[in-house]
Amino acid sequence: MACAPFLFSVDLEDIRQLVPGGERLQDRVEATTRPYLEFLRRYEARCTFFATGDVARRYPELIAQIAAEGHEIACHSDRHIPLDRMDAAALREDLERCKKAYSRAGVENVVGFRAPMGSMTGETAWAYDVLRDFGFRYSASVLAARSPLYGWPEFGPDLPRRHRGVWEIPASLTHLPGLSVPFAGGVYFRVLPGLLVERSFRRRLARGLPVVGYIHPYDLDTEEERFPYPEINGSRVGNWLMYRNRGLVIPRLDRLMNMGAPIVRYADYVSGSLEAGTAGA
Ligand SMILES: [Zn+2]
Repeated sequence: MACAPFLFSVDLEDIRQLVPGGERLQDRVEATTRPYLEFLRRYEARCTFFATGDVARRYPELIAQIAAEGHEIACHSDRHIPLDRMDAAALREDLERCKKAYSRAGVENVVGFRAPMGSMTGETAWAYDVLRDFGFRYSASVLAARSPLYGWPEFGPDLPRRHRGVWEIPASLTHLPGLSVPFAGGVYFRVLPGLLVERSFRRRLARGLPVVGYIHPYDLDTEEERFPYPEINGSRVGNWLMYRNRGLVIPRLDRLMNMGAPIVRYADYVSGSLEAGTAGA
C-alpha cells in the first residue's frame, strides 16, 4: 500500500496586515517564503500555498514563481478576515477580489480554500455554500477540537469528509490529556516537543491516514522585529510562544521527510484519493 501523504501547506499571508501599525514593520514576505521553496526543491516536492489575495496583489511575481515551480495556489481569503466577521455577501466580495488578484498573477482555476485562523465552525458553516457556488472543491479550514481561537469539536474525527458539497480536510490532531492540538500546524509544530510531533506523525501514517499540516512564512523568521502578535489577547506567554523555536522549523520538516511520507498537493489528494474513494479512513 502506498504511504499516506503529508499534506504540508504554507499559509502565505503578510503578518503586517494583521498587526495595528504593521505598515511600519519590515517587509519579510519574500525572504521568509524562500526557505520553504528551497526545502520543497530539495525533496522535489510540490505542495499547496494558501495565499491571501492581498499577497497575490502585492507580490504577483512571487505567486507566479511558486506556481511555476509546480505548487498549487489556493485561497486564504483576500485580507485574512475570519469568517465570523463576515456574512455570505462579504465573503463573496472577498473571494471575487482574490480571484482577480490570482488572475493578475497568472493563476486561474483555484479550487481550494482555507479560512483565516481556522475560522470554519458550526456557526460559520454557511460559508460552504458560498465556496461551492464559487467552484471550490475543497476547504482545509477546520480545527476539529476545542481551541483558544476557533475550533469545531462537533465536526467529528479529524478526517476529510464532504460537507455541503465541498470536501473539508481538517488539520491533523494529536490528543494530549484534556487537549487536542494540530501537531503539524504553525506554533504547535514549533513548540511541542520534537519527539511528540514525530511520534504523532508516525502513528497517523501507520494507520494509513494523511497528515494535514500548515505553516506560515513568519514561523521560520528568526529576524522578525518583536511586536505584540494579533489574536492572542495580549498574552505574554502567547507572544513568547509566537517567537519560540523558529530556527527549528526547517530541521523539523527535514526529520519528517525522512519518514518517507510524500508531500502531495491538496488538489491532487482530492482528485486522486478522496474523489476516487481510495483515501484511508
Ligand atoms: Zn492565515
